[in-house]
Amino acid sequence: MNGFIDAEGARMQDFKTDEARWLAVASRDHAADGAFWYGVRTTGVFCRPSCPSRAAKRENVTFYTGIAEAEARGFRACLRCRPLEAARVVPDFPM
Ligand SMILES: [Zn+2]
Repeated sequence: MNGFIDAEGARMQDFKTDEARWLAVASRDHAADGAFWYGVRTTGVFCRPSCPSRAAKRENVTFYTGIAEAEARGFRACLRCRPLEAARVVPDFPM
């Protein structure tokens, strides 16, 4: 009954609901990066949760757990937060 786990489950643990995702977007929570992306219907772009651009209205936002899903719906990657690069580049934090 409780088998709603996928390959990204470990990173999605805190962002399973749209409410939690919206809160992360509203607060530009970097911890949510990689857990989900959101598309803005009015602009046709999708972003990382921590995108620095102006916040969209809640009713125009749709959440996706994969970039491919967002692209399939016709969204293009945001030029400000560059969600494609964020997904494909492994963070390399200087020690
Ligand atoms: Zn963005």
